[in-house]
Amino acid sequence: MSQLDFGFDTEITDKTEEEQARNFVCEIDLLVAPFARYSYASEKELPPNLRVLVPLGKNRRVLGMTSGIYREYKADTDGKKLKSITAVIDTKELISEKNRQFLQYLATYYQANFGEVLALALPNLLLDSKKITAQDAVFRTQDEIKKSIFYRLTTAGEQALSTEKIGKKQRQCLEKLANSDLAQEQIADKKYCRELETRGLIAQCEEKTLREEETIELNSEQNAALTVLLEKKDFSVSVLYGVTGSGKTEVYIAWIREILNSNSQAQILLLAPEIALADTLYRRLSKRLAVEIALEHSAKTNQQRFMARKAVKNGQARVLIGTRSAIFADFAALDAVIVDECHDLSYKQMENLRYNARDMAIAMAKLRNIPVLLGSATPLVETWRQIEDKNWQLIALENRALTNQKAEITLDNIRDVDLIDGFSARLLREINRRLQNKEQVLLFLNRRGYAPVLFCSSCDWKSECTACDCRMIAHLDTAKMHCHHCGRVQNLPIFCPQCGADDLRLLGFGTQRVEQALIRHFPKARVLRVDTDNAGTNKQFRELIAEIERGEADLIVGTQWLSKGHHFPNLQMVAVLDADSAFYSQDYRAEERLAQMLVQVGGRAGRESRGHIWIQTSLVEKEVFQVLNRSYQEEARRQLAIRKMEEFPPYCAYAFIFALHSDVAVATDFLSVLRQEIANNDISDIEILGPIPALMSRKNRKYRVELLIKAGRKAQMQRALPEIRKIIAKMPKKSAVAVYFDVDPLVFE
Ligand code: ADP
Ligand code: ZN
Ligand code: ZN
Repeated sequence: MSQLDFGFDTEITDKTEEEQARNFVCEIDLLVAPFARYSYASEKELPPNLRVLVPLGKNRRVLGMTSGIYREYKADTDGKKLKSITAVIDTKELISEKNRQFLQYLATYYQANFGEVLALALPNLLLDSKKITAQDAVFRTQDEIKKSIFYRLTTAGEQALSTEKIGKKQRQCLEKLANSDLAQEQIADKKYCRELETRGLIAQCEEKTLREEETIELNSEQNAALTVLLEKKDFSVSVLYGVTGSGKTEVYIAWIREILNSNSQAQILLLAPEIALADTLYRRLSKRLAVEIALEHSAKTNQQRFMARKAVKNGQARVLIGTRSAIFADFAALDAVIVDECHDLSYKQMENLRYNARDMAIAMAKLRNIPVLLGSATPLVETWRQIEDKNWQLIALENRALTNQKAEITLDNIRDVDLIDGFSARLLREINRRLQNKEQVLLFLNRRGYAPVLFCSSCDWKSECTACDCRMIAHLDTAKMHCHHCGRVQNLPIFCPQCGADDLRLLGFGTQRVEQALIRHFPKARVLRVDTDNAGTNKQFRELIAEIERGEADLIVGTQWLSKGHHFPNLQMVAVLDADSAFYSQDYRAEERLAQMLVQVGGRAGRESRGHIWIQTSLVEKEVFQVLNRSYQEEARRQLAIRKMEEFPPYCAYAFIFALHSDVAVATDFLSVLRQEIANNDISDIEILGPIPALMSRKNRKYRVELLIKAGRKAQMQRALPEIRKIIAKMPKKSAVAVYFDVDPLVFE
């Protein structure tokens, strides 16, 4: 078996328990639930960061990782209790010391077991205990990588791509090369590549060469930003603040290029909040940087993700672009981190281990003593506080790179107005006018489906989910009702399920209903809907986006999903249909989010000429709408002042402790006892609220109850939480209450 560079060399010796010498006791972090750290007997003292196979329970063999903590085996005390390690899988440490330090920090910060963080951090291919030997052959050694053949697209290949008449597989291969030269194994198998080569569509080349070096000269603002960034060598956080289209990405590219040029080993991590944005950045940077760029996100196969991580680990890839999980990559020599659209909520993982990749990217930069750049048109209030406190440096791009025109704004007062299918008559007229001018209009509505409520006007029955505290949403395309929280589906009833009356009505509007209404009102227009129902996969989403870009749609209905980062040249007007929902939210961040949405959505309109933003609201007097007339910074300052007055984060720190159980009383009791125990233990500097039911307290037949822990500062919170965890560990968990933490929650649930 070949020696593998990622630290692989399998020598699974399946000795029976008795055959193995028991000389040491090693602490092993399990890579499967319960992700605990358990002791096992071992023949040798084991260094950290090696995967091992260990027995768990009666018959299972599971993966674990050595912690590097061990002691001598004592036959009299350890004798009966301990099981032996079945096999040591790696001969070289799988992760670096720096990487381990970072993962350990993350585990501590979010009150997670180290094993759980490892299981999240390691590529899936390394976590399958059944396929360890089989996989080994898949990985190539460093020497083999160097020998790989690079291909580029020939002119004939380019021509073939632009014609419609080529096969699917061929198109896929050629498209990959459209942005960048690639190694053979990144395109297709050897045989197929040779075939394409024989037909003259691709040609071998030495290594990655850039065909079209677009030289974009930075404008003076961008240059000033670059100058500031080039001074940053040690840890520091800079915030590149500029509206969409102000040229932030160009600044990233220029900075990356300088860093790569100044040091032949330098690496950069560029985070994007979503797959589609990561893909876009990858395509753009591939054309502009003559180095290997790795791409990591959840739409890539396990194999692709492994290869990306490996290239980052051995230093071959100089830039890693990825969504939040990319922070786990083990860099050979990381020199800078960039977080694009740093305000985006998608940086927070909302299930299992609730970590925030943006915050952890900053923590990682601190550990490695390197600079961080956060880019956004709408930085979070938390970010503005850091800027005000002079901890972080603000770098502003005030002008748009291409146009400098402020969008036109219409606040359409719909109080006491009869809406037609969810639209004011004025808005319908305006849409009509835009269509006459052959312009695209984008309509935003943050609710999927057809109608949010099916309602019986005879008996007041409502379409509620049987498993959650919420309504089921009617979807006409499937003729079903869907629960957007647990995924339950039911047929759309024709008669009321409660009283049998023929009086069912659909109340409210979802994207499907708006789509249908538009088709009715504007029969000649091409209407396109983009939400997770019809653009659930990355590929579907990209295809819809491409359709919009090519101008193949006149009216586009979308959820917030569409508000980010895309460039639609022919889009002049954006209308927000449901702005008011923010004012009825219980979340103290709702207005901040509305302000961000307005700015981001506004950024979609008129990127190359003057745009128009239309907002339907019955609360025109709300100050947040002024964000469209002022700078976002002013609005953020206003929000920050409110937070300070109300003592909300960032003027304090929050953490939730959730208890989950099918019986609401069991979950509540557990937290009541916990609260009492915390009081008895006299943990200082924190305040506790609850137990209270979570906002959506019943979800998928489980009740969720929460304690809100409040501390003056994050450091105090970090001192208190481990104490609370110890208390929880000691508490009897009656009938399996699931307990988990959400440190620095981003949304109220
Ligand atoms: P952002 O990342 O802030 O949205 P981009 O960097 O994508 O902005 O720039 C928006 C558009 O303006 C892009 O098409 C980009 O190529 C162009 N652009 C940016 N800076 C310049 C410049 N200095 N000269 C010419 N075009 C530029
Ligand atoms: Zn009824
Ligand atoms: Zn449900």
